[in-house]
Amino acid sequence: MSETITNWAGNITYSAKELHRPYSLDGVAALVAGSASVRVLGSGHSFNEIAEPGPEGVLLSIADLPPVIDVDTAARTVRVSGGVRYAELARVVYTHGLALPNMASLPHISVAGSVATGTHGSGVGNGPLSSAVREVELITADGSVLAIGRDDPRFGGAVTSLGALGVVTALTLDLVPSFDVEQYVFTELPLTGLDSATFGTVMASAYSVSLFTDWRAPGFRQAWVKRRTDQPLADFPWAAPATEKMHPVPGMPGVNCTEQFGVAGPWQDRLPHFRAEFTPSSGTELQSEYLLPREHAVEALHAVDGIRETVAGVLQICEVRTVAADEQWLSPSYGRDTVALHFTWIEDTAAVLPVVHRLEEALDPFDARPHWGKVFTTPADLLRERYPRLGDFRKLARELDPEGKFANAFVRTVLAD
Ligand SMILES: Cc1cc2nc3c(=O)[nH]c(=O)nc-3n(C[C@H](O)[C@H](O)[C@H](O)COP(=O)(O)OP(=O)(O)OC[C@H]3O[C@@H](n4cnc5c(N)ncnc54)[C@H](O)[C@@H]3O)c2cc1C
Repeated sequence: MSETITNWAGNITYSAKELHRPYSLDGVAALVAGSASVRVLGSGHSFNEIAEPGPEGVLLSIADLPPVIDVDTAARTVRVSGGVRYAELARVVYTHGLALPNMASLPHISVAGSVATGTHGSGVGNGPLSSAVREVELITADGSVLAIGRDDPRFGGAVTSLGALGVVTALTLDLVPSFDVEQYVFTELPLTGLDSATFGTVMASAYSVSLFTDWRAPGFRQAWVKRRTDQPLADFPWAAPATEKMHPVPGMPGVNCTEQFGVAGPWQDRLPHFRAEFTPSSGTELQSEYLLPREHAVEALHAVDGIRETVAGVLQICEVRTVAADEQWLSPSYGRDTVALHFTWIEDTAAVLPVVHRLEEALDPFDARPHWGKVFTTPADLLRERYPRLGDFRKLARELDPEGKFANAFVRTVLAD
């Protein structure tokens, strides 16, 4: 039976007429071995054609495999199946008195899909979600099983892999002892006078800090500050505390968001902005994000401010976060402490694309790497310059998948010699 399969945002309709949902690993292996071209769909929260299988390709979901969430309390690790979403994973990890080091703005996303695109939260000392991964288990092109752990020279390409190496069936993640977080929202933080040192102090003032602006005026409308209760308390003197529960997107209800006003609670109920049982963000949107060296943060913010009216015309909200350097070859924060400038646009692709292009021009001097799961127009030659290990990844993809079974048009463009 033919079905219409779209991503979460609805801006991408996949050309596949069927989403294959095997119930067993053997079923996945047989489907992969018997197909010429395969892409895996995670929870579908990407905004571009990264998961598009192409007209002849098979689109595969592993969401119906029996979920595995095996916590090893002594080793402080968890082995989780790739299709499990962070909300479910976090709930189980928490019951063992343990924690994931960080989470993205929403817990609705699948683990394998998130780390495949370099998904991240915020925090000057927090790497992307992939930095917690110690081993990935894959079903490769011939249907065989392969585990790649941290001590394997291929590991740098194995986690943030754009789905190009095989079906990630399970991952083993590092955990840390559980911790509580207090979340505060502050309002109106001016951009004028914000120098690099102050920006650094603002972003380092808590475990995770996010700044939000609609770019209708220079400066930030909201600062979301997530403090660990087991770490020293720093003041936040740059803005005033909010007096009502806030949502980062103007006009959206605060009830959709995690607890605020400094009420302490478990990490998984405070690190994401959005509650698992509600629609995250606005729900009618496109997104883009650019990650650049943190030392350029203030200059880059002024560059965006310079085209503020153009950006504001199609923008719902912009979020500024920090990500610590990591070692995944295709990670947008590979090898450099990073500032991430995120844009939630209106859902009008035709109106948004020219602004995305203009924004990329404004950020061009700062060596900005686009988020793999979001809308971008950065050409392949610039991607090659900005992702210095792309050639190593290409070699690994050819070694594991010589026929290009897992390479769709998106991947072929990115990996073109
Ligand atoms: C409302 C909203 C908020 C967001 N917030 C953040 C944020 O805070 N930080 C951030 O960095 N990003 C954020 N994103 C982007 C999102 O995290 C990424 O797009 C992420 O890839 C989504 O995971 P997914 O499972 O939906 O992946 P999909 O979009 O389904 O797939 C992404 C890629 O992963 C591959 N893949 C998926 N599962 C597997 C598997 N089992 N094996 C092999 N390959 C696989 C797919 O083939 C594809 O290439 C947000 C997105 C939305 C919609």
